[in-house]
This record gives sequence, C-alpha cells and structure tokens, in this order.
Amino acid sequence: MIGMGKTPSLVETTNYQEPPVIKVELDLSPEDQHFRESVRGFIRDAFTPELQQAAARQAGVFAEPSLGREWQRRLHAHGWGAPGWPKRWGGAEFTPIQRYLFSVECAAAGTPVVAGMGLLMCGPVLMRFGTPEQQERLLPRIPSMEDYWCQGFSEPGAGSDLSALRCRAERIGEEYVINGSKIWTTHAHAANWIFMLVRTSSEGKRKEGITFLLSPMDAPGITVRPIASMSGEHEVNEVFFDNVRVPVSLRVGEEGQGWDIAQFLLMNERGGTSAAAALKNALHRTRRIAWRERDERGRRAIENDDFQRRLAAIEIEIAAVEATELRTLICGGLSGAAGMASASIQKLKVSTTLQRLAEMAVEALGPASMRDYRAQLYCGGPDDGMAHRETAVARHLNVRAATIFGGASEIQKGIVARSALGI
Ligand SMILES: Cc1cc2nc3c(=O)[nH]c(=O)nc-3n(C[C@H](O)[C@H](O)[C@H](O)COP(=O)(O)OP(=O)(O)OC[C@H]3O[C@@H](n4cnc5c(N)ncnc54)[C@H](O)[C@@H]3O)c2cc1C
Repeated sequence: MIGMGKTPSLVETTNYQEPPVIKVELDLSPEDQHFRESVRGFIRDAFTPELQQAAARQAGVFAEPSLGREWQRRLHAHGWGAPGWPKRWGGAEFTPIQRYLFSVECAAAGTPVVAGMGLLMCGPVLMRFGTPEQQERLLPRIPSMEDYWCQGFSEPGAGSDLSALRCRAERIGEEYVINGSKIWTTHAHAANWIFMLVRTSSEGKRKEGITFLLSPMDAPGITVRPIASMSGEHEVNEVFFDNVRVPVSLRVGEEGQGWDIAQFLLMNERGGTSAAAALKNALHRTRRIAWRERDERGRRAIENDDFQRRLAAIEIEIAAVEATELRTLICGGLSGAAGMASASIQKLKVSTTLQRLAEMAVEALGPASMRDYRAQLYCGGPDDGMAHRETAVARHLNVRAATIFGGASEIQKGIVARSALGI
C-alpha cells in the first residue's frame, strides 16, 4: 500500500518504523528458502557493528578499498567470494536464483559494495579468453582479493567513443612497450593489476587495431595521479604509461581481438546483478531523513504531500525494476539484442532513480546539508547514529556520475532505440 496523502500516524510515532514497501513475494523452494536463511545468518555474524558503521559512511560508487577488501576477505573465508564462479576457480557456483537472493540480502543489509573490476570484469574475461597459464596464475587470486584490479579503458577523447583510444602498445620481440594514458581509472591507486585496451595497429578499421593487455601496476614507467571527485572523494585517477614493458604472455586473446573482448566485458558491467534491493535501501535512507530532519519551523519533509507523492512514484519505479530483474531471472537471462536493450533500460532506470533519491535526501535535509561533515566522513569520528546526514551531500554529488560511467545515458538510449527499431 502506498501512502499518497498525509500520514499523521507516521509522523506522530516516536520510534521510527520503516513504512511497508511494495513487496514481491517469491515462491521459493524449501532449498532456496534454506539458502536465504543461511545468507541472512552469515550477514548477521560477519557484518559486525564496526563494519556496519564503516559501510554507512561510504558515499562513493564502491566501498573504499580497505573496507571492500575486509568484506571480501570475510566472504571468501566463507566460500562466497565469487558467487557465480565455478568452484574450480574459488567460486561458490551459486544457481542464478541463489545469486539473486544473495545479492538482494547483501544490498538490503547495506553490506560494502566491493569494486567489481576483478570479480565481474577481468575474471569472466580470463575464463572465456585467457590462456590456461593466465587462468591458473590469476583467477584464484581474484575472489580472495590478493590481487586488486582496475580497468584501463577510457582516455581523454575516448570514453563513449572508446574505439578512438590512442594508448599505444608496440610489440618488440616478446614484449609490448606501452605509451599513453588512461583516465577515470577507478581505484588505480589501490590496484596491483590493470587490464587495459591498447592500440596495436592504426591500419584498417579503428576497432580492429585494439588489443586487450594486462599489466602489473608496479611495472616501471606507470604513474598514477589522483582525481578528486566533487565531494572530495578519491576514487578515480589518471594513469600514465611511459615505455612500460609487459611480456606478450600478458596479452588476452589475439592481437586485434580487444574490441570483441571489451564488448563481452561491458555486457557483464551493465547487467547481471540485482539493483532493486539497493534502490530500496536508498529509498529507506531518503525516507528516514525526511522523517527525522526538521526545518527551522519544525516541519518535516515527510509531512509534505508533494514530497510523499514523489517518493511514492519512485517506489513504483523500483517495483518495476524488480519485476524486470525477476523476469530476466525466470527467463534464464536475456541474450543478443534483447539482452543488450534490457541491460541498458535497467542501467537508465537505476542510475536516474538513485539520483532522484539522493537529491530528495538533500532536499529533506535542507540547510543542514550545507554543514561540512567531511571530518566525520573521512576520519571516522564517533558515530552518533546520524551517518545519513554525513553522507547525504557526498552521495548526491557522487551519484551524478552514475549516468556517465558504465556507458553514459545517451549511449544507453541509443542501444535501446537501435534494438527497438532494428537498425
Ligand atoms: C566515477 C567514474 C568512474 C569511472 N571509472 C572508470 C574506470 O574504472 N575505467 C574506465 O576505463 N573508465 C571509467 N570511467 C569513464 C567512463 O566510462 C566514461 O566517463 C564514459 O564512458 C563517458 O565518456 P567521457 O567521459 O569521455 O564522455 P564523452 O564520451 O565525451 O561524453 C560527453 C557527453 O556526450 C554524450 N555523447 C557522447 N557520444 C554520444 C553519442 N554518440 N550520442 C549521443 N550523445 C553522446 C555523452 O552521453 C555525454 O553526455 C569512469 C567515469 C566516472 C565518471
């Protein structure tokens, strides 16, 4: 039931109770119900109050590396470091429904969002295109996060138009010598490996001269320069390559196959995980702020009809996102043009909904949002239970990037249009 008017009982309650949200009840088998209980039990034990506090303060796209590593370490120790991977490479080999339930429970609890460059991007690429030596050497170190990966695709002048990339790798004997730069490289400052697209040929079509290479981040000639986000966070970087030498054995696939490999990887980046639970979490956060914070006249945003109506409209959209996720799950995933379009629609919906919720959280905070909370945010000062205040503005600023990274909104709309029009 969605409240559309004033809800006096809600605002008069002293102890805040989450209002009911639109619920989709899954008809789970006894095994899957048991599985879900085991996930809840694990989260109760492993997601300690200390980690909960740290996670509540995260305002970036991903948990900052030390927190992400710590949570991943706990998952891996439990055998759940790589939910969808085969056991052979340290995976949990969850069924699709188990993966979905796992992701829903983690998002609902607000566990740290571990950067997925290793697990969701490089790992699947190595399984599909890597040599047996590359697989043996690199795959087992991803779920344990002994290796922390970053993604070197974008360059100045080559983001949406990725095939314009210019970072060059010249083959000399049994080595590639890399010169050029990458930009917006998330967590490059924490990573010890980078997977990248490089230009190995300028002949023929642009896409055909691109190759997929791996490099250790401590290779001589690599320099990482931080880029501060609007909120002051350090998530992204520039990475410079000055005569960096990597052995040919670190090339994935054939020379010139990089574009096809990148398409496979981006498909994983854009779809595959469940976002509805994370959206519900953001909805609760915004609603809680709207309930707790008062303006100078003592009014709360939750008492405002227009505010409530907008929240209700968002809630309906979240229900639609959830229904789409479940439909995809029941169909066993979507492939081809329909799969691309569906992943793009989800990306558009999820990113814009997150932005609207983050904006409404700041609106509900009003002038209080202008206070500088960075000391608490970055120095982890004592938690007074008000982490929602500390992070609201930073989240709002950071989530602006959600309609840019992983393929900008205009690009997603182009994919949807091409699929609908069959062009
Ligand atoms: C927080 C963050 C983290 C990131 N992390 C990484 C990372 O780890 N690794 C990495 O490689 N990259 C990363 N990126 C880069 C990201 O993939 C690019 O920013 C994105 O692809 C857009 O490219 P661009 O920034 O060059 O913008 P541009 O491509 O220059 O786009 C500028 C504007 O023009 C529009 N536009 C461009 N082409 C078209 C078109 N054909 N039709 C209609 N409109 C168009 C775009 O939608 C956008 O609004 C990250 C970006 C951000 C913001």
